[in-house]
Amino acid sequence: MNPSLFDEAPHRRFNPLTREWVLVSPHRAKRPWLGKVEKAAAPPQVSFDPSCYLCPGNARAEGVRNPDYKSTYVFDNDFPALLPDPPAGAIDEEGLIVARTEAGICRVVCFTPRHDLTIPRMSVEDTRRVIDVWAGQYLELGARAQIRHVQIFENRGALMGASNPHPHCQIWADAELPNIPAREIESLREHHKRHGSCLLCRYLELELARGERIVCANDDFVALVPYWAVWPFETIVLSRRHVQDLTQLGDRERNQLADLMRRLTTRYDNLFETAFPYSMGFHQRPTDGETHSECHLHAHYLPPLLRSATVRKFMVGYELLGTPQRAAARLRDMTETHYLDRGFCESGRPSS
Ligand SMILES: [Zn+2]
Ligand SMILES: [Zn+2]
Ligand SMILES: [Zn+2]
Repeated sequence: MNPSLFDEAPHRRFNPLTREWVLVSPHRAKRPWLGKVEKAAAPPQVSFDPSCYLCPGNARAEGVRNPDYKSTYVFDNDFPALLPDPPAGAIDEEGLIVARTEAGICRVVCFTPRHDLTIPRMSVEDTRRVIDVWAGQYLELGARAQIRHVQIFENRGALMGASNPHPHCQIWADAELPNIPAREIESLREHHKRHGSCLLCRYLELELARGERIVCANDDFVALVPYWAVWPFETIVLSRRHVQDLTQLGDRERNQLADLMRRLTTRYDNLFETAFPYSMGFHQRPTDGETHSECHLHAHYLPPLLRSATVRKFMVGYELLGTPQRAAARLRDMTETHYLDRGFCESGRPSS
């Protein structure tokens, strides 16, 4: 056992109190922090930003340059939380200090070359293209032997930790099943065993009969605020058909999903007349080689806004959909000099 391995390599630590595994990515502290966390969400005014590392033709980290892409663009994350080939390692001290390294692949998907657009302002056709890319990525990454779960998620807005307003999402393909999907699958399985039916199909029937928590719907998808919602404005998007992943959606269903996402996110933006920050992610069947007929494709939208555009709870995307990331390392790295006392104003120029 080499303890310094865990200072560098992505790994999971076991929490013996909750008996959950927590993802830790120490190497990621090197990542540049491009976003100011606390800025008002004014939409970008320009369709191309020469300083944006996601815009076509611009330079990214370490000299890589984006192609002059015309619709969507997928690339391996320059600062991935997971690495495809981490050194193998594990520690276990009395079942209390427990960790093991973990492999995975992190990608970024640009939705459009346009810097100033977002899903609510993109055309249904363009969003449909993004859905096709998601399905393709799920298929490609999920087919790899070591990948057992593919998480597609979008952190929108600086409040959710997105460092760049350019419309994009992330994909984390992981060797382990994250906590939340794992628990959901357990429940879906158990419900199927006891009732012979899908928990989410049945739940959707109940909600459609009541109607009171439905936000919007079309022929193939329904967006609703779940009865058990924790976050104000939290929603779940459910396919009406019992399918397990995006690749099973037909042509019409994909267009309908694009339509529903556009309508739902437009409602979000209209709520406070701001680019509403949220963390959204799809839950699909694990790619571990099993059929998982108990799984039912759905997306969670978890907005952080509690009362207004400025009062929020701070949690960042994947943690809500996967496992809690540790903030301690980040906090430890912080200077103990308050930023207002540093002698620099926000623009980086010395203040007078
Ligand atoms: Zn851009
Ligand atoms: Zn179902
Ligand atoms: Zn879910």
